[in-house]
Amino acid sequence: MSDSSLRLVWVYPDLLSTYGDQGNALVVERRARQRGLDVMRIDVRSDQPVPTSGDIYLIGGGEDRPQRLAAERLRRDGGLSRAASNGAIIFSVCAGYQILGHEFINDLGEREPGLGLIDVVSTRGEGERCVGDVLADIDPQLGLPQLTGFENHQGITHLGPTARPFARTVLGRGNGTGDGTEGAYNDTVFGTYMHGPVMARNPQIADLLLKLALDVNALPPTDDRWYEALRAERIAAATQPA
Ligand code: GLN
Repeated sequence: MSDSSLRLVWVYPDLLSTYGDQGNALVVERRARQRGLDVMRIDVRSDQPVPTSGDIYLIGGGEDRPQRLAAERLRRDGGLSRAASNGAIIFSVCAGYQILGHEFINDLGEREPGLGLIDVVSTRGEGERCVGDVLADIDPQLGLPQLTGFENHQGITHLGPTARPFARTVLGRGNGTGDGTEGAYNDTVFGTYMHGPVMARNPQIADLLLKLALDVNALPPTDDRWYEALRAERIAAATQPA
């Protein structure tokens, strides 16, 4: 593997990988290799330091207790925050998304500090858990087709003034605030409630991260007929009357 490899860091698979989150790492790797790029994947367990020299970081979803442990260890370690201040690209899902915000409610019912890399605060929803299919139109600035996903969370996430909504829901609860927003981002740090894993359904998200990492506007095209068929199937399944 050459020094010029793209460094893809998957953060804490031992704590935050409840929802097939490895799928996102596999899709980023595959989409990069399809374009002839070398990829070095680095899986970082929660007892290891998070390297600061990665290009793209992925952090996934998890249950409430592992989520608290992950937040404690990431705060103590500091590597992910340093990587973010170096301009790294970070993509987070659900529990990972909440951890990247300013705070969330932990499994003990207490306010747990996050890393503050996305300007959001998560509270605990009083109503029913948000579970089900999601269809969402991504922020037009990011220029991707409609996203399909699946959400499963109790947390409700409120955007602060500097965060942009990642997407707007057509179906599903998204951030759960009732304002139609789904996920959030600040610069190159992204968060979403969509599992799936979301990049297996929407490989364009992986391409977005690759473009940011390579600082290019476009990548060579790929044959996406399989993904398009999956998208059509998920949209039909999500929107058909019960
Ligand atoms: N524990 C968090 C919540 O329920 C995140 C769950 C998840 O990652 N699916 O809001």
